[in-house]
Amino acid sequence: MKVEYTENYGGIVVCDFCNADGDILDDEGEFANKGGMIMGSHAICGRCCKKNNYVLTDGSLNLEKFKDEPVDDIVVFDQEMGFGVNVREWRLKVYDTTDAISQFITFDDNDEMFDYMNKNKGKK
Ligand SMILES: [Zn+2]
Repeated sequence: MKVEYTENYGGIVVCDFCNADGDILDDEGEFANKGGMIMGSHAICGRCCKKNNYVLTDGSLNLEKFKDEPVDDIVVFDQEMGFGVNVREWRLKVYDTTDAISQFITFDDNDEMFDYMNKNKGKK
């Protein structure tokens, strides 16, 4: 087995709706895209939450909008904090790490590959 390439994407936050950079700053150096939410496995930026009327002006979830949806897997973030900061804090709380490591691995043959896959079954 040979690890050809390793990259940690854990620091990067991008909105799953509009692909906006979660750490974009305005001209004053303040976070330009604040708040946001987690819905299931999707991170949605503050701008998209506003556009879709998901979060009320007081920072709470718009329950009228989600009246026919399960809300157990929804987390509304601090509306004053940057979206990227919020998502990384959430990742740390939920996964005990902000790492999201991606690797490209090559194997000498199928046996080596299946051994590796069986050894790593169920690992995150
Ligand atoms: Zn967005």
